[in-house]
Amino acid sequence: MNFDTPITIALSKGRIFQQALPLLAHAGIVPTDDPETSRKLIMDTNHPQVKLVIIRATDVPTYVQWGAADLGVAGKDVLLEHGGEGLYEPLDLKIARCRLMVAGAPDANLEGNRLRIATKYVESARRYFAARGQQVEIIKLYGSMELAPLVGLSDLIVDLVESGNTLKANGLVPLEHITDISSRLVVNKAAWKMKHATIMQLLAALQEAIAKAA
Ligand code: ATP
Ligand code: MG
Repeated sequence: MNFDTPITIALSKGRIFQQALPLLAHAGIVPTDDPETSRKLIMDTNHPQVKLVIIRATDVPTYVQWGAADLGVAGKDVLLEHGGEGLYEPLDLKIARCRLMVAGAPDANLEGNRLRIATKYVESARRYFAARGQQVEIIKLYGSMELAPLVGLSDLIVDLVESGNTLKANGLVPLEHITDISSRLVVNKAAWKMKHATIMQLLAALQEAIAKAA
């Protein structure tokens, strides 16, 4: 690919960076550093015009929305919380796949109107229980949701589940499937217009890489 326009791509380190690497490589983009060992927040690539910014997963939509990055890779879980304002979401990258689920003790009661739900995914949890016609109390946490039912903070949790091993290790079980999660390519709306040709080229290359991986 030939990048004649400067492009900044926002990524989080960990599983999204690792799983996005082969897709980017297919588009000819190779980072010059490894974010797991480098402390650099702005990373160069083999293309002088293509830069990566390495940020928290939940911050990716914000950077892209404000145009601080032209594109980004964000989990659908994060996008559901953010709302997607100022963003296009043209491509499911099919990486970092898991499920958003309601979980709790094996004998937990899912019915009732005074249930307390601990979660990082406040918006998704609110919408899910509202659609069931249930009034619940949502308790916002930033991590280790599995602890909440064990210490009586909540009746249930809403969290991402991949293998279910973390739940199991804490005596919890998945109870209800809310939605499937994977990472999406997001694009700033102004960049979509201003850098259209370059972004379309990149999209096509990523699409090809996804099809190959399937
Ligand atoms: P931080 O650790 O900085 O608080 P985070 O926990 O959201 O952020 P990651 O654990 O790397 O960061 O998750 C990034 C994204 O990867 C999530 O938004 C989600 O889309 C996806 N993800 C999270 N957990 C899993 C999992 N167990 N399996 C597959 N994908 C996951
Ligand atoms: Mg995590």
